[in-house]
Order: sequence, then C-alpha cells, then structure tokens
Amino acid sequence: MRGAGDIVQLDSWGEFKEEVRAQTSLVALISESRTVIPKNGGRQFVALCPFHDDHNPSMTIDPSRNTYKCWSCGEGGDCFSYVMKMEGLGFRETLEMLAERIGLEVPKSPQGQGGSQSGYQRQTVLEMLVWAAGVYHKTLLNDPAAEPAREYLLDRGFSEETWLDFEMGFHPGPWQWLCDQARGRFTPEQLETARLVTKREQGQGYFDIFRNRILFPISNDRGQTIAFGGRAMPGSEDAKFGKYQNSKESPVFSKSRTLYAFDRAKDAMRTLKRVIVVEGYTDCIALHQLGIVNVVATLGTALTAEHVALIKRFKTDDFEVQLVFDGDQAGQDAANKALPQLLAQDIELKLLELPEGMDPPEFLEQHGLQEFQNLLQQAPDAWEFKYEHLVKTFGTESANAKENIITGMLELLAVAPGIQGTNRENILLNTLCNRMGLRPQQEGALRKQLSKLRAKGAQLAYSSSQTLQAHEFEQQETNQVTDSSENQQEIVDQLLNSTLDHATVLEQDLLEIIFMMPECITIITSNSVQHLIQNRLIRKMFDLCENLYQQKQFTGVDSVMAEVEDPDLKRYVLGIHDSASQKRISEKLTETVEDPRLDVCPAYLKNVIEQLEWEQKESQHRNSTQFAEAQSKTPATINEKMQKKLQDAALFHQQRVTRKTASPQ
Ligand SMILES: [Zn+2]
Repeated sequence: MRGAGDIVQLDSWGEFKEEVRAQTSLVALISESRTVIPKNGGRQFVALCPFHDDHNPSMTIDPSRNTYKCWSCGEGGDCFSYVMKMEGLGFRETLEMLAERIGLEVPKSPQGQGGSQSGYQRQTVLEMLVWAAGVYHKTLLNDPAAEPAREYLLDRGFSEETWLDFEMGFHPGPWQWLCDQARGRFTPEQLETARLVTKREQGQGYFDIFRNRILFPISNDRGQTIAFGGRAMPGSEDAKFGKYQNSKESPVFSKSRTLYAFDRAKDAMRTLKRVIVVEGYTDCIALHQLGIVNVVATLGTALTAEHVALIKRFKTDDFEVQLVFDGDQAGQDAANKALPQLLAQDIELKLLELPEGMDPPEFLEQHGLQEFQNLLQQAPDAWEFKYEHLVKTFGTESANAKENIITGMLELLAVAPGIQGTNRENILLNTLCNRMGLRPQQEGALRKQLSKLRAKGAQLAYSSSQTLQAHEFEQQETNQVTDSSENQQEIVDQLLNSTLDHATVLEQDLLEIIFMMPECITIITSNSVQHLIQNRLIRKMFDLCENLYQQKQFTGVDSVMAEVEDPDLKRYVLGIHDSASQKRISEKLTETVEDPRLDVCPAYLKNVIEQLEWEQKESQHRNSTQFAEAQSKTPATINEKMQKKLQDAALFHQQRVTRKTASPQ
C-alpha cells in the first residue's frame, strides 16, 4: 500500500486512474457531504441521494465495488462520476482533485487530454497565478499607491468585504513592477507562460501586461486562479488599451470555456435550479454582493457551446439558464450573436434585455430585487426574443412587415446549428405559421424559403457548426467512447430501461458475460462475434474492452469502470453489471460444453453466440427477400445473382424449420 505523498511511477494514464479509483473510498468521500448509514452489517451503506429530491435514503453505496446507485432516480457510478456530477467538474479536474485528496501526484497529460502542455508546466503556471493574485491583492489592501483604486471601488459600491471575498487586486503602474516583485522566484520567461508579462517588441526584456488596473482573479471550476481580468483606472494612460482587459489564453485558461464565478455559484445553482449569466465580472460581483449568488459571467465572449456544456453538467429536470444583457447597443449585439447557438441548445433558456440602457447593478439600484426577478420570470426564450425584436423593428400591420419578420425568423433558424430536420424545427415553423396568420398549406413555402436561406447562409452556418463540432470532437477525445455526447444520456437510458429487441438483448448479453467472466472475451474475439454487434454504443463498449484486453488490462467490470470517463457511460457499465448480477450470469457460466468451433466454452455463451448469428441470418434473409421481391417485378431480369439469392432463401427456410423443431428457444 502506498502512503500519501509517495511519487507514483505508473506507465499509463489508465493505471493512474485505476490507482486513484482504488484508493478512494467512496463511502468516505460521500460521507464528507452527507450522512451515510451502514446496512447489512456494513456490507452496504445508504444515504440520501443528492441527484433527486430524496426523503428516504435511496442511494446505496457498495464498498466492495466502490460504486453507488440510486434505486429511485437511477443515478449511479463511481467516485469520478460522483464528483463530476456533484461539483460540475470535467474528468481531468475530477481526477486531479481526487488524486490530491489521497496525496497522489497527477502524471503528465496523456495525448488528447491537455495538448502538448505537460502537467509540470500547468502546475507552474497555476503557482505563478496564485502568487500574482496574492501580490496584487496585498497591494490593493495596503499600498499607498492603491489609494485611488480603493476610492474608486468604494465609489462604485464595492465594499471592503467584497474586495477580500473576491481577492481583488491592483497593479500600481510601472511597466516592470511585477517582474521586479517576482525576482528570485520566477523568471520573466516563466511569467510569460502565465500571460502575466510579455516580451518587448523592440529592445530587450519584458514588461507587465496589466498596468495601473484593478485586477479580478478569474478561477476555474475548482476555484484555482487561471487568469485575470483588469479594469483600467479612469483617466489612466493604460485605458487606451481598453477599459477591460483579460489575460490571453494560456495552458490553463480558455475564455470560451470559463465562466467567471462558476466555482462560487455552483452550490446555489444546484439548489435554485437556475443560473443567471451576466456580461461582465463587475456586474457579477455586484450581484453576489447583493446576495444573489447563482450568478456567473462570460468573459468578453457570447455564451459558447462549451459554456453550455459546463452548465449542463448540473442539468436537473427543470434547470433554467437566464441570460441578462445590458440594455445598450453592445448588449443587443451580444444577444443577437448568441441567438443561433442558444436556439440550438436543449436547455430552458431565457433572455432578459434590461431596459433603458441599464446594467444589472443600475437596474437593481433603481427598481429593486423583486422587479429584477419578475423580469427574469417573464423573459422570453431565444425564439421569442428574436420575434419580439423583429416586431419592435417592423411592426406587424403591413404585409411588408410580416414578410420581414418571417425572413428574420427563418434566417435565425437557418444558422442555428443542429436543428435542421428536428422535431423542434417543426414546432418552431408551426408557431411561426400560426402567428403570421398563414394557412397550414403555406408552411411548405416557409420550408422552401428556409432551405434557400440555408444554402445561401451555408458559409455562416458552417462556421457556427464548426464550433460545435470542434467541441464534440474534444469531448470524444476526453471521453474516449462518447457519442455526440448530447444524446448519450438518452441512449443509455434507453438501453437500460426500455424493452429492447431480441438482437440488442443478445448484444448486451455479450457485455454481461465478459464483465462477469473476462476470459470469455477470447472466445468472442477469436470467432469475430463482436462484428455482429449492431448497436453503436454496445459496440463501442465492446471495442473498449477488447482494447483493454489487448493491452492485457482487461479484468472485467472494474477495469472498464476505470477506463471510461463519461458519467453516463459509467452508469451504463454499472447498469449492465447490475443486470448481470441479478440474472446470476456468473453461475450460468460455470457449465461448459465442448464445441468444434468454440472449443471449451460456457454453454450459456455458446447459446448467446449462436442466437446472435441466427439473428444476423434472419436479418440478411429479410434484406434479400426484399431484394428478390423488388427484382421479381421485372421477371425478365432474373440473373445468376438473383437465382443465388432465391436458393439461399430456400435453404434458410429449411434451416429455420429444422431449428424450430430441434431447439426449445
Ligand atoms: Zn436519486
């Protein structure tokens, strides 16, 4: 047993994940946040499930498998799924957090996990940012040079308590101030990797990126400082570089994936089942100071697909995202830019544009919290938002106005990624039709116009779907077997909870068998049975097992659980394992038979394989019958191929008859 703090030498990322999983006691982890009660003499534990409104402890924790399962809402998984779901973290962050908790050091990133940046560099960058935040913060609190900044903040209504709470800081101005502070600790080259300083274009040396600015540390989901936002002092020389300035992207910071204050808002988001997204960190802080703590801010970008993915990790049934835009031109532009992306998201989403050019703190000051909440309640969704805007611009009276509105709405639909051909598109077109007083027959004309716009706007649509695709690709990289990840949850639900056709049941049987008796994978792969698997998720899951097997790391359900990172897939693995236990598959596998092709093989497995092969023959037969029927309409063209098919069909029928009489199945 390794002690805390030992350096782990593990060859593979997979082994490290397994190490963390094995060393993390799920019972201990869960009992950090809720009461865990022993059952069955300590062989099992129960707790209130945090993933649904639970009043009777319905979450069971199995310490021998180190997994949990809620019998009421169906959530289940291991320590990774638990933390990912509870904290809204990604896999990498979860692994880091759990490793840290048991005193293990995370090895350097595997390919596709964090690019070419080594864990070491990441770590140093994080250290520098923590250090810089401390230096800036102390300066704001104590340095005489920060007096104007302190006055400015008080003037803007930020209390001293808030400065401390958000660790606000100040850079007093001199171009090499931070470099000087870092002397003997970090070199300017190092500081550059953290985007704190930059090289002079002419001459030698480096200079500070933020100067004479109030600084706001930006944190990741875990509360680690990963970047800074800087507000220029009014009238300062540096303001010409922009009133607000954020750190450039770095090994640890990507603005399209970061929401300011997400780490602080998490708990309130979960309890209140909603998140308010505002445009800037000062607005965000102001709202937190007023006690509205489920607020996050974007960092100079519109809400991206990655942001939504971050929020979605919390998605409970009636979760709502409320976007608040300033009522000025910039706010309107931001809202309009975000619309196609927002329309495509399958989350409850409301857009609130504040009246009279106000920002959220101004609005709250003038109208109060109740009015703010009322407005949020009544705020329209993305589709409605666009509609209201068009109506405001064109009116609804003239035929011309109607045409403009229709075109505007269709333009939005044309560039919304991933909506083409969906049910949602039908509903939206339908409502548009009704609203514009069109007859149902005229919907066809709308659709024609829409496809024209799609063709015309292909360029635009292409660029926005690119972002989504890039995002999905990344997800695939990190989750290994993730499908488009959007509908994965659904696919898993379907496979685990609904009545499946016979072939899919058999395919799933294969998984159950290799989970319970890993060595069976040899029989399956050496006879290429896995190629009969039609269901994509089951096939991917099997491929993953086969991969592990080839690396000599396949030891059944535990090794698979350690390998998959996506919480839904973990839930699936657990579901299959549970089903296998309930069906007592292990016992069924003890009886073996000798078979000329399969060698010594559990009788149960042999049966599954043969049924699967039969299923395939059935489906081939169905296809070729259809083919034959289609051909027979033109009898003159009967050729060799056709005759072969007819012969096959006859043979098949003969086989079927024999099989039915011979087999009790
Ligand atoms: Zn539950």
